[in-house]
Amino acid sequence: MKYDVVVVGGGPAGLGAAIEAKKTGLEKVLIIERDRELGGILNQCIHNGFGLHEFKEELTGPEYATRFIEMAKEFNIDYMLNTMVLSIDKDKNIIALGESGLIDINSKAVVLAMGCRERTRGAIDLPGYRPSGVYTAGAAQRFMNMEGYMVGKKVVIYGSGDIGLIMARRMTLEGAKVEAVIERKPHSSGLTRNIVQCLDDFDIPLLLEHCITYVHGKDRVKGVTIAKTGKDKRPVEGTERFIECDTLLLSVGLIPENELSMDTGINLDRRTNGPIVDNRMQTNIEGIFACGNVVHVHDLVDFVTRESRIAGRNAALYAMDRSRKDKSVETKAGNGVSYIVPQHIDLGSDEEVNLFMRVRDIYKNKKLVVKCGENVILEKKRVHMIPSEMESLKLNLDIIKNLSGNIEVCVEGV
Ligand SMILES: Cc1cc2nc3c(=O)[nH]c(=O)nc-3n(C[C@H](O)[C@H](O)[C@H](O)COP(=O)(O)OP(=O)(O)OC[C@H]3O[C@@H](n4cnc5c(N)ncnc54)[C@H](O)[C@@H]3O)c2cc1C
Repeated sequence: MKYDVVVVGGGPAGLGAAIEAKKTGLEKVLIIERDRELGGILNQCIHNGFGLHEFKEELTGPEYATRFIEMAKEFNIDYMLNTMVLSIDKDKNIIALGESGLIDINSKAVVLAMGCRERTRGAIDLPGYRPSGVYTAGAAQRFMNMEGYMVGKKVVIYGSGDIGLIMARRMTLEGAKVEAVIERKPHSSGLTRNIVQCLDDFDIPLLLEHCITYVHGKDRVKGVTIAKTGKDKRPVEGTERFIECDTLLLSVGLIPENELSMDTGINLDRRTNGPIVDNRMQTNIEGIFACGNVVHVHDLVDFVTRESRIAGRNAALYAMDRSRKDKSVETKAGNGVSYIVPQHIDLGSDEEVNLFMRVRDIYKNKKLVVKCGENVILEKKRVHMIPSEMESLKLNLDIIKNLSGNIEVCVEGV
């Protein structure tokens, strides 16, 4: 099979990229999705809070996905379900495994939109037996919201990432008792609105600077021992206490899904665990683009959609041979900033430059300062910045073109 653009992954990033590639004027666009339906992680996120930027409405995950799935159908975009992409080479030959066997596709351009997966118990060295009743928060969410299984009645949640917070509310609404959310760090890893709407509104305690030191139970979880964590992030002796529970949900981080990218030879950023991209969302391999959670973990789907349009449009331009590459400058995370996407800005592209970043710590009444070489080109005041909420800044490409040097963003005075 031959296509102009093949998109790997049919979540919001893949759908947005495919629609934009088609709108840019391409005929043959294909989405390959390993799951039984399009929509990605949104299909299991039945709570509201999606689409405030994109549609100025508060939608549920499936509602947000449906709008894009319908658009993809209106644009006659081809898609394959239950089909897993196994490999992509530098010439954009794609091997996938579908219901009827192996499929071999050549494409002029490729967009990677494989999303991310959750860190599991193995990644955090949780001592104790391996009883049933330990789930990642996302797996429990899928069981409850899509398969119709209640995963437990007395619950402890480890980690205060957004999925854990949302599951605290979800399990409470379904009649479970959520004993506590345990977080190692001095601040939550989730959005403030989720702390308020999912914990505070339901009187669920959030125990900051605490960790789980033991999981009890042989066949089924019987409880967990928790302890306060000290400055060295280790449990403080004498502060241990037992919490009885039959279920432990883990919400301890997400990892961009990049085994495929690595096999293709795409360079990854060790801070984001996603491909290094430029402002067209192009990776180090010309004609291979990436967007969404596969690049860096997003907290808002609206930003995923914004990024996917850039990737889709530029993949289409590349496929039409209308892509012009020029000198590029690097972006660098300065003091107080943990990472920036994109990592390069191509001065030959007309694409506007939106920098996405996360700060390292909690900052109040500070400025984000952008320098190009020695020149300050942008300053933005922020009343409150926290690592769990992504920051974005829009830069004027013409200003960068007229100056020399790389771009650095830092938090003023840190
Ligand atoms: C629990 C939870 C709650 C959230 N709540 C909100 C919220 O309230 N508001 C908000 O705006 N955002 C929220 N988000 C964030 C938002 O949903 C995500 O950022 C967004 O869905 C990511 O989109 P994506 O397309 O990059 O990834 P996904 O949606 O994960 O899509 C990736 C797709 O790629 C497919 N895939 C992977 N590998 C392959 C392969 N090799 N071959 C074929 N297909 C493949 C997967 O099956 C999947 O369908 C939430 C996320 C989660 C997990």
